[in-house]
Amino acid sequence: MYQNEKKTVSILIPAYNEQDVLELLYDRLNKIINTLNNYNFEILFINDGSKDSTLEIIKEFRKNDNRISFVNLSRNYGKETAMIAGLDYSIGDCVIIMDADLQDPPELIPQMLGYWEEGFDDIYARRKSRKGESFLKKFTSKLYYKTLENVTNIEIQKDTGDFRLLDRRCVEALKSIRESQRYTKGLFSWIGYNKKEILFDRDARAAGKTKWNYKKLIDLSIDGLTSFTTAPLRWSAIIGLLISFAGFIYMGIIIFKTILYGIDVPGYSSTMVVILFLGGIQLIFLGIIGEYLGRAFYETKGRPLYFVDSYNDKKENNLNLNKNIKE
Ligand code: UDP
Ligand code: MG
Repeated sequence: MYQNEKKTVSILIPAYNEQDVLELLYDRLNKIINTLNNYNFEILFINDGSKDSTLEIIKEFRKNDNRISFVNLSRNYGKETAMIAGLDYSIGDCVIIMDADLQDPPELIPQMLGYWEEGFDDIYARRKSRKGESFLKKFTSKLYYKTLENVTNIEIQKDTGDFRLLDRRCVEALKSIRESQRYTKGLFSWIGYNKKEILFDRDARAAGKTKWNYKKLIDLSIDGLTSFTTAPLRWSAIIGLLISFAGFIYMGIIIFKTILYGIDVPGYSSTMVVILFLGGIQLIFLGIIGEYLGRAFYETKGRPLYFVDSYNDKKENNLNLNKNIKE
């Protein structure tokens, strides 16, 4: 096979303060891809505004290895944005998205490429086990996905992170979606195409600290729901309708009773309960409307999703941003 007939595989690795794990990652990744001689590789790091020496380490790698590229974002934007930046800059015929912390084992890459050659477009790795996670976390996440699936009518892959191989056409599809509050996990499902699942055991982080916390998790779940469905708005309307109907019936009963038995002494506590209950419901529904309004607010501003400080060693002028093409 001639050199220029080889397909290129981009490995996209978002990295935020990952200095402790990069060497390990590079070693393990190298071992695997050196056995895959039928492909050219691009290892594309997205430095998501790291405050440690992540960028310096990547630059050092690049000196000795021309397969390495990096995009240095202008600040920390979060993993979702780092991923779309990576997709924008990737040059491969397919892209494999991987965490920097080795929780996504590079050893699965050959299997993913195998399925890709068979014609699958999106080969995602599903966790067989979720060791070390509390019952509450498992339960709430199961409930959340069930609800999301029911209200959006798109199939969301369970126990699946962002570790997957995407064919170029999936990459182009994802690049064309420029919404600012991205819920990439849902977008993978939303774009469709031929999906294939492979199973793996998820290891613990090899080194360094997780950047996740419950606040981020809750934010992401709300983003997930509000970016894929307006069902909560409809629920509010229906619940409102039911309550007013009940109120209407109750009014009838009171009028009827007054006519039959005369004026009753009004109950202070029952009135309070009703006022507080309805007040609470109204605030919740206002909040729901606010969520959607907030999303609309962000989207109408139409800001670019991110700014790039430098690509490889070149300073970026960011002129092509938001057109979803690289020069
Ligand atoms: N990450 C990032 N930007 C952030 C937070 C995380 O690019 O603001 C990267 C991080 O470097 C890692 C991946 O996203 O490669 C997953 O992060 P982490 O391991 O902290 O999440 P967890 O695996 O605990 O869900
Ligand atoms: Mg991790």
